[in-house]
Amino acid sequence: MDDNIGFVYKVLSYKESSRLVFILSSNGNNLFIARAASRPTSKNFSYTNEFNTIKYNYIKRGSAYFLTSGNIIDNYQNIKNDVTKTMVALKIINLLAKYIDYVSSHKILYEFTHSILNNLKDTTSSIYYDLFRLKLLYLIGIGLQFKKCLKCNSNLNLHFVVKEGGVLCEKCLDYTKAIDNELNKYIQELYFKKNYEFSVIDLIKYDEYKDKLSVFLDDYYRYHN
Ligand SMILES: [Zn+2]
Repeated sequence: MDDNIGFVYKVLSYKESSRLVFILSSNGNNLFIARAASRPTSKNFSYTNEFNTIKYNYIKRGSAYFLTSGNIIDNYQNIKNDVTKTMVALKIINLLAKYIDYVSSHKILYEFTHSILNNLKDTTSSIYYDLFRLKLLYLIGIGLQFKKCLKCNSNLNLHFVVKEGGVLCEKCLDYTKAIDNELNKYIQELYFKKNYEFSVIDLIKYDEYKDKLSVFLDDYYRYHN
C-alpha cells in the first residue's frame, strides 16, 4: 500500500491499549484502528495523536482498517507554542469533527483545512476560525445566497436574512429583520475569498466586524442545523 497523507482530527482510546484514529485526507474521512498505540514503546504511538498531519500505511481486514505504520510530517509546533493560535486551531478542529459527516467533498475540506492551518502559523487571529465557520456552511449544503431575492428573483435592493439563508428584496422583505448592509458586504467578501492570507489592513477591518460576524454565524448555525 502506498503512503497516504492525512490530518488526524480525533483520537479515542480503544480496548486495552489501542486507539481509534480519525483521519481526514483528500480521499475521504476514515476511521482506523491503531493497535497498541497507547503504549509509548509502540511504533504506532507517536503519529496517532490529534492535530498532526501524517504519512501513513494501513491494511484492510474484514470491514476494518488497521494502521500499520506512519510518521508525522507536520505537528504544527508553531501553532502549539502559541496559546491564542492553539485556541483558534482547536475550535476549528472541533467544528471539523462535528460536521465532517455532512460535508459534500472531503477533498475540498482537506485542502481547505490544510490551507487554513498553514496560514494560522503566520498570523495570529480568530479570523481563521470565522472564515472556517463561514465557508464550511457551503460544504455542508447550507451555503449563503447573495445574488437574487429568494422569493421573487429580483436583484435590486437586496438584504440578507439569516433565517432565509439568503437575500430578500425590499418588497419581499416586508417586516422581516435583515442584517445591516455593511455587514452583508463584509460577509460576502470573506465568503468568496479565494486565498487565506490577510494583510494588516484586512485584520483591522476584521476587528471592526468580528463581534457582529460572530453573532451572525452563531445565529446561522442555530437556524440551519
Ligand atoms: Zn423579492
